[in-house]
Amino acid sequence: MSVDLPDVADLQMLFAQFNFVHFDGEIPSFKIAYNARFSNVAGRITYKPPLIELSPKHLRGKPEELRQTLLHEMIHAWLHARGENPGHTPAFKRKMKELGLPSIYHDLGSAAPLNPSVKRYVLRCEKCGMELLRRRKPPANLVCARDRRELKVFEIVEMREVEPARAANRSR
Ligand SMILES: [Zn+2]
Ligand SMILES: [Zn+2]
Repeated sequence: MSVDLPDVADLQMLFAQFNFVHFDGEIPSFKIAYNARFSNVAGRITYKPPLIELSPKHLRGKPEELRQTLLHEMIHAWLHARGENPGHTPAFKRKMKELGLPSIYHDLGSAAPLNPSVKRYVLRCEKCGMELLRRRKPPANLVCARDRRELKVFEIVEMREVEPARAANRSR
């Protein structure tokens, strides 16, 4: 495994290992890929087709952030596989806590339940860790009220759902 950035086969292995250790193997197979076009986004999940994309720019040389981002996306996938709301719900936060992920989604309580057909943008202040959830692509110049640092898009949560015609043969 490259110290700098695991290759895609390593990511797939990490996914399988985390699935077994932390999720009782309940997550169906997801393709794990890098998306070099993400400039300020660490990760993105798409349910159909099942795909988790990670940003090499954001995660290169940061194995712990890579682990946390992958686990974060896997919690979305796990809730979705269980037929639960896959958003940043209380169940999501419980699982984050169980896995020892930093509990950063403190102000998203009012955001659930999520409409399952939209994108949500998670914005983050890299100084204080404050996060915001936006429905629309945010303007580039939003700043943290506390310390005036520019807020970066940290994650895009994509809730694209199966089209009704194909829902019947969705595999769980
Ligand atoms: Zn801040
Ligand atoms: Zn998320």
